[in-house]
Amino acid sequence: MAFDPLSIRSQFPILAQQAYDNPLIYLDNAATTQKPLSVLEAMHNYYLTANANVHRGAHYLSDKATDQFENARLRVAQFINAPQQSQVIWTKGTTESINLVAYGLEHLIQAGDEILITSLEHHANLVPWQQLAFRTGARLRVLPLTSDAEWQEELTHYFTERTKIFAVTQVSNAIGVHTPIEMLIQQAKQHGAFTLVDGAQAVAHYPVDVAKLDCDFYVFSGHKMYGPTGIGVLYGKHHALEVLMPYQTGGEMVSKVSYQATEFNVLPYRLEAGTPHMEGAIGLAAACDFVDQQDRQSMLAWEQQLANHVWVTLQKAANVEIYSPEHNATLVSLSVPNVHTLDLNAYLDSQGIAVRAGSHCAQPLMAQLGVTGTLRASFACYNTLQEAERFCDVLIEAIDLLA
Ligand code: PLP
Repeated sequence: MAFDPLSIRSQFPILAQQAYDNPLIYLDNAATTQKPLSVLEAMHNYYLTANANVHRGAHYLSDKATDQFENARLRVAQFINAPQQSQVIWTKGTTESINLVAYGLEHLIQAGDEILITSLEHHANLVPWQQLAFRTGARLRVLPLTSDAEWQEELTHYFTERTKIFAVTQVSNAIGVHTPIEMLIQQAKQHGAFTLVDGAQAVAHYPVDVAKLDCDFYVFSGHKMYGPTGIGVLYGKHHALEVLMPYQTGGEMVSKVSYQATEFNVLPYRLEAGTPHMEGAIGLAAACDFVDQQDRQSMLAWEQQLANHVWVTLQKAANVEIYSPEHNATLVSLSVPNVHTLDLNAYLDSQGIAVRAGSHCAQPLMAQLGVTGTLRASFACYNTLQEAERFCDVLIEAIDLLA
């Protein structure tokens, strides 16, 4: 059965507004998604009925808050098929999760070791590793994936016995391509490297099974999958989480403290210093429910269909360079010769269409593509075909005007 975005659109009241006298068309979903009522209500209800500090007080409300908070952890563990809920560490988002791992593994990295990333990474999965390399004398290496991200036999040479960490995105935020993730993880594991997958752009679209992926760490942000901002996840295999040195210390993450020494708490609390983002966790669990309530296969097919429609229309009708794949992407990333993407963005915005222009926090990738930035339209389950068509019409209008 065809997916019907209108049936779920009513759950996103924010979309029913005008932007400068035009119906708002929100195509900046790779930056952040809108939140359904169920997520907003879950967070609102938490404050209305259960708010107290978790794990601390021996009183009714604190127990209630703790139950809801730990149930949220369980829900997220189920969502990504983590074997145990203690393998889900709450963070602020993908960026904090990666930093937590980069600082947490520092004690195992020595001068001459190699940290391998790919040429498709968001700055969040590049700068923390680069800085770790600077601090330790390790070497940052970049696996040169091309824009189709296809596996090539010669890439095996990048994995060596010196490779200690391999960090890779599952889906590129800038050009929407998928990496050959299973093959890459397998290569890294053969050389005994820790593996980290940046799932920020994957979780809203693809069912994630961390047990099957067999990576050591999987990270993502709530706000990119219909959940709230300020909450994210670091999933890890037990032994991988156990070797991480806590990169923040304080309350909650300790079991015994004296002036002489501190005994750290067990997982997951050992890596969660301070009062956590309780309503964020509860909102993220509600987002998992929202996503799982959809027919995920048809939802993904719908998002891909919208992106494909834009890809095909623009390829035919306009002088554009498209960097995202024709098939299986949920976004379209492009540039127009002799027209600045910021000007295109401004024109689209004036017509109520929200997209993203710029380097998408992937400057080295932009340099590899030979551009300073691209214009990116990214789709979510609530986008309609009319919106995709209007985006194409207005973009073509803008190109005619500006080129
Ligand atoms: N990784 C990828 C692939 C992303 O798309 C993003 C955000 O755009 C991030 C990491 C960083 O996510 P956050 O800003 O939520 O920490």
